[in-house]
Amino acid sequence: MRNITVIGAGTMGNGIAHVFAQHQYKVALVDINEEGLKKGMATIAKNLDRQVNKGIIEAPEKEEILSNITTYTDLAEGVKAAELVIEAATENVDIKLKLFTQLDELCTEDCILATNTSSISITKIGAATKRPEKVIGMHFMNPVPVMKLVEIIRGYATSDVTTANVMELSKALGKVPTECNDYPGFVANRILMPMINEAIISFWQGVAGVEEIDTIMKLGMAHPMGPLQLADFIGLDVCLSIMRVLHEGLGDSKYAPCPLLVNMVMAGRLGVKSGEGFYDYSEGPKAAKVSGQFAKGVT
Ligand code: NAD
Repeated sequence: MRNITVIGAGTMGNGIAHVFAQHQYKVALVDINEEGLKKGMATIAKNLDRQVNKGIIEAPEKEEILSNITTYTDLAEGVKAAELVIEAATENVDIKLKLFTQLDELCTEDCILATNTSSISITKIGAATKRPEKVIGMHFMNPVPVMKLVEIIRGYATSDVTTANVMELSKALGKVPTECNDYPGFVANRILMPMINEAIISFWQGVAGVEEIDTIMKLGMAHPMGPLQLADFIGLDVCLSIMRVLHEGLGDSKYAPCPLLVNMVMAGRLGVKSGEGFYDYSEGPKAAKVSGQFAKGVT
C-alpha cells in the first residue's frame, strides 16, 4: 500500500497525514471545508519545523514531506487512488455511518476502510458497508507524530488479512500496533476513562482536592499528568461521552458518569478548550491553576 487517504484534517487527521507523508506514502487529505484543510496543512508545517529543530528530520525533508500530501474537498476525487482510507472526521455516529456508506461505493474493491474513532463500534461502522471484512479500527493517539501506540480494533467481521495488513503498515510507520476486539471503549478508553471518572468521584466526595489527587497519581504512579488535568486536556465533554458509551454498552453501574462531570459539561466548563475545567487556563495551559470554584479543596 502506497496511496493513503485521510478523511478529516483536524487534530488527528493532520497528525495521521503527517506521519504517512513522513514515511514516503502518497497522502490525499480530505475535509468538508477548505478552511479545515488550510489549518491542517499549517499545523503539519509547524510540527515539521518542530521536528527539524529537534533533529528528528533534516530541514530539506520538510518540503518533500509536504509535497507528499494533496488536499481535497471532494470525497470522490480524494479516494480515487486509495488503497487504504483512514477516517478521522468528527466523532459523530451519523457522520461516520454516512461516510462509510459513501466510501464503500466510491473506493476500489480491495481498499481497506479504517476509522480512528475513540468510541463508536467498528462492527456498527462495518455494517454500513458491503465489505465489513475490510473495515477496521486504527486508533492513533494524540499527538500522532509523537505517540507510538496504534490500537488496532477488529470488528466482529474484520478478516485476518485486513488485520495483518494494517498491523504491518502501522509498523512501517515506526508505530507499535496492538490488537484488541470491538467492545465499548476498546482497551485504552475502557481503562483510562473509569480512572478519570473515579478521580472526579473522589474529588466530588471530598476525599481530596484537585491538586492533591493529581499529585498523588503523578508521583505515586509515575503518570506524566494527573487524571483531572488529563481530563481537562482531553475535554470533559469527550470524557463524558465515552463514559456514556461504556455505561450504555456494558450495562454496569460502575461506569455511571460522576454527577459533577455531568454538571461541568452542562455548564460549558470543558477544560482547556473552554478556558476552565478543574483548572483555570486563562493564562495559558502552562500557567494552569486550580479553578477558583474548586480552590477550597471540596465541591
Ligand atoms: P476535530 O474536530 O479536530 O477534526 C474533525 C475534522 O473532520 C474537522 O476538520 C471537520 O471539518 C472534518 N469533517 C467533519 N465531517 C466530515 C466529513 N463528512 N468529511 C470530511 N471531513 C469531515 O476532531 P479530532 O479530535 O481530530 O477527532 C477525529 C476523530 O479521531 C474522532 O473520531 C475522535 O474520536 C478520534 N480521536 C480523537 C483523539 C483526540 O485526542 N482528539 C484521539 C484519538 C481519536
